[in-house]
Amino acid sequence: MQTATTPYLDSYDVIVIGSGLAGMTAANILGRSGYKVLLLERHYKLGGLATWFRREDNLIFDVSLHGFPVGMIKSCRRYWNADIADRIVQLKHIHFDNPQFKLVTTFDRDDFTRLLIERFKLEPSTVSEFFDTARNMTHYDNGQMTTRELFNRFFPGRDDVVRLLMEPITYANGSTLEDPALTYGIVFSNFMSKGVYTFQGGTDLFIKLLRQELVRNGVHIATNSPVEKIVVENGKIAGVRVSDHSLGLKPLELRGKTTPASELGGKTIRCRSVLSNGNLKGTIFNLVGKEHFSADFVEEANAVRLNNSSTQVYMALKQGEAFDEDECGDLYFTSTAPAFQTDLLLSRNITSRTFSFYYPRTRPGVDLYTVVASSNARYEDWAELPEDEYKRSKEDLIQVTLDSLEKYVPNIRDKVAYVEAATPRTFREYTDHWSGASFGTKYEGLAVSRSLAQQIPGLYHSGSVGIIMSGWLGAVNYGVIAANDMDSFLVQS
Ligand SMILES: Cc1cc2nc3c(=O)[nH]c(=O)nc-3n(C[C@H](O)[C@H](O)[C@H](O)COP(=O)(O)OP(=O)(O)OC[C@H]3O[C@@H](n4cnc5c(N)ncnc54)[C@H](O)[C@@H]3O)c2cc1C
Repeated sequence: MQTATTPYLDSYDVIVIGSGLAGMTAANILGRSGYKVLLLERHYKLGGLATWFRREDNLIFDVSLHGFPVGMIKSCRRYWNADIADRIVQLKHIHFDNPQFKLVTTFDRDDFTRLLIERFKLEPSTVSEFFDTARNMTHYDNGQMTTRELFNRFFPGRDDVVRLLMEPITYANGSTLEDPALTYGIVFSNFMSKGVYTFQGGTDLFIKLLRQELVRNGVHIATNSPVEKIVVENGKIAGVRVSDHSLGLKPLELRGKTTPASELGGKTIRCRSVLSNGNLKGTIFNLVGKEHFSADFVEEANAVRLNNSSTQVYMALKQGEAFDEDECGDLYFTSTAPAFQTDLLLSRNITSRTFSFYYPRTRPGVDLYTVVASSNARYEDWAELPEDEYKRSKEDLIQVTLDSLEKYVPNIRDKVAYVEAATPRTFREYTDHWSGASFGTKYEGLAVSRSLAQQIPGLYHSGSVGIIMSGWLGAVNYGVIAANDMDSFLVQS
């Protein structure tokens, strides 16, 4: 929140709705360029899905800090600062275990080439041509070929190879074999350039440093400030209205203190342009209202599909217990399904899980071993469950996850000090993403997101759409693109 010495203004050049990585990055760039920027967040903390939570006295869990491509270093250095960029480090031990293979890799092109040739017995020329094809895909490709067709072209009949290449990317951005191949190619190549990276210090430190940089660049920040309306006058952006209802989210971090109500609650703040970092469909249909768009655009926006959601189980070990690092590594892609199948990955009957193992080095100085199990999930499977069945299903999820972890951490039930589960309902509650989508919308959402300003001058969207623009790196980079578009608009208008 702003302090009494830096009061909010009645009017801004830019209002950013939502403090996900895309919203914060755009706010930072525009603030740094000298625009008056207000960042409004409905939650009591910044970060969106890039978040963490505390439990009991000393437990802290990361929700989406499992791994991102090396490009994050460059993007953070350029659009945030060197201190943030310098804390990004590589995760070197990525494990796979499923009925088709068990292996460890550094998850980069050299090591995958070695594995594909030596272990999977593929021709070196096929492997190299596949990598080059994936790397050369761009946003300007026509998007007709599906990922399944791409794999059929290079590795017909090799579902073991498809599993190695596809399973981690499905976790990284929710993409499936039926999605356009370029959504796979771009993200896969990003990871293959140098492996998988993380932020040393944890998500809490990362977001704290981003916040400090926003303040340094003059961005005004208001948390607990859900926007209920984007105000359009004469076909143009005029401002936003902040709801006077706080969301009632429970801030355990604040240890019993109540969250301060937003000073902006119930107010309309005027501005020249708005960037919504909220869910794309929520932005169009709830915040703006379909009456402000052309009929064709509304039809196109209606047709945009949402991405899938997730379940997670967070576990902390008792003091004095530790993981065997050789056995567990950093990231573990596990599955008991006989072959890779998208519908199995989404099923309530979970067969595939990614375990992220966190060691004391994640937060130097904090002697904590935690593990987070993530699985893709469908919102519909959880949304309508009556409360008692929902609680039972969460407990089941915890128990089957512990059963599955037993293979890698023997006697896990004796070692674990704390367990908790999150479901698609949790993700919906904390971010207001329709259907609790972990990665926004499918690919067609990108064109809709990019064309908002043609419908309403001054209106922009940035954040998880189109698979490529999601994940930590995708969101940061889409924030940069949106900030550039807004800068051009503001200069011209
Ligand atoms: C379980 C899980 C695991 C993940 N793991 C990884 C991973 O390992 N690596 C990776 O790169 N990515 C991962 N991701 C994805 C990544 O976290 C997201 O793609 C990225 O953080 C999304 O950023 P965003 O800018 O789209 O905004 P979001 O994070 O979606 O944030 C949007 C923000 O807008 C706010 N908001 C919405 N509506 C309003 C309103 N009306 N008024 C005010 N505020 C509003 C929300 O509260 C939220 O803070 C994971 C996601 C999930 C769910």
